[in-house]
Amino acid sequence: MEIKISGINFQMQDKEPEKMNGLVGMAMFNAQEMWINASSTQQTKIIARWHEIIHMMDRAYGTKLTEEQVTIFTHALVALLRDNEGIVDQINND
Ligand SMILES: [Zn+2]
Repeated sequence: MEIKISGINFQMQDKEPEKMNGLVGMAMFNAQEMWINASSTQQTKIIARWHEIIHMMDRAYGTKLTEEQVTIFTHALVALLRDNEGIVDQINND
């Protein structure tokens, strides 16, 4: 999938485990790519996708988040979206 962050298009792709060096996700800002380990469970992929998006936003906007802050914010965001189905449309259209 393609995701635009701060005007830049990034490609998010599932990659074979051999290319992931044991990682669940990788964010390569200059290559404009995010890789997700294809062998991960669906729930892990969801968290990894948001995690790498937040890394890219952090880099694009210079917020200088730590790895721990990215991890915590990712879990908070995933829980918010899971617990409030349709929240994006509601906020945009109410
Ligand atoms: Zn990370």
